[in-house]
Amino acid sequence: MHDHRRLGRELGLFDTDPLIGSGLPYWLPAGATVRQALEDYVRDLERRSGYLHVHSPILGKRELYEISGHWPLYGDDMFPPMELGAEQVVLRPSLCPHHALIYRSREHGHHDLPLRIAELGAMYRSEPSGSLGGLTRVRAIQLNDAHIFCPPERIAEEAEAVLELIRRAYRALGIRPVRHRLSLPAADGKYVADPRMWRRAVAMLTEILDGAGLDYETAEGEAAFYGPKLDAQIADPAGRESTLSTLQIDFHQPERFGLRYTGADGRRHRPAMLHRSVIGSVERVVAHLLEVHGGAFPAWLAPLQVAFLPVSSAESPRARELARHCTDLGLRAEVRDPRDGSLGARIRSARLVPYQVVIGAREAAEGLVSLRLRDGRRLDARPAEEVVGRIGELVRTREIDLWPHSPARPGRPAGARA
Ligand SMILES: [Zn+2]
Repeated sequence: MHDHRRLGRELGLFDTDPLIGSGLPYWLPAGATVRQALEDYVRDLERRSGYLHVHSPILGKRELYEISGHWPLYGDDMFPPMELGAEQVVLRPSLCPHHALIYRSREHGHHDLPLRIAELGAMYRSEPSGSLGGLTRVRAIQLNDAHIFCPPERIAEEAEAVLELIRRAYRALGIRPVRHRLSLPAADGKYVADPRMWRRAVAMLTEILDGAGLDYETAEGEAAFYGPKLDAQIADPAGRESTLSTLQIDFHQPERFGLRYTGADGRRHRPAMLHRSVIGSVERVVAHLLEVHGGAFPAWLAPLQVAFLPVSSAESPRARELARHCTDLGLRAEVRDPRDGSLGARIRSARLVPYQVVIGAREAAEGLVSLRLRDGRRLDARPAEEVVGRIGELVRTREIDLWPHSPARPGRPAGARA
């Protein structure tokens, strides 16, 4: 495993400045590109899975969090309130209350549930300054969040769909959890009371986990204050675990916010609220991807996807023409000219770029290119248009194999996976 902080600096992905403050990293162009690609991916995945996206403010009145239970039970992790006239507003510690209010703003009938509200939004946590660093301990978090409001009898099928989304995303990202965890309350922790509600939620989550055939461990003291959680755990190079994806069953907040829907019987009922995150926070997932892939991101995520390497300056115009063609296809491509160094040096500098396209005199004359893959495979010269088109297709479909059905060549891969 690799150190994501070192790689983040080396690859120009993110940085911090004491004047902005610790735990508040900013994203440089290459990092912003990765982040944008991730966000596009997850929004697209959600849209295809029946989620509706919203945007809600990063601030809320203190009263909102008193109702949700965050203020009394989670206040130590929140930023202090800001005085605004006679009111106090706080930076939100989670998106849940905003989404509960969005649900409540409209009437709902059983036929328009489940309502799946998704947002990639910011939330804030007043982590102590000693613990901050890199992308994993931050005070501003961009969370891939969603809340599913549904009749209690629909929880199981919604939860299964969430688990499937997580599986699909992990495949596309080339990552896997170290384990699954059923997070339960501790005997002496700070939780909302109502033992009946907790028992019901725990029983449902256990059934969902058993039904999914997932191996899991239970952990007391790791539940959210309002309900138990199913967590997909990842580990950093030091073996420290953290939660990436999560699924929570919540009967508490629907009650606190007085959420209702009209059932088939014409009566008013209380929906359940599932909290779920597929890829967790953008910060944590990028840190994890760096640690797992050592900077060799899956092609669809790579800041630069195709590097064109003309052997001599005579082939530069052809390289530029093909790079433009790639850009038109939505790919991130760049020409590394002979003035940037010898061919060997340019190949080394492009070692994390998934597709390295070499163009010599013969290739340029015959409309061919030679393709080197980041993993060490080399393909014989073939028509340039065919190569560019295939790369475009592999990136569009977020294929994890750089060139499926091409035999691996012996040799040390440039961007080996940990
Ligand atoms: Zn939530």
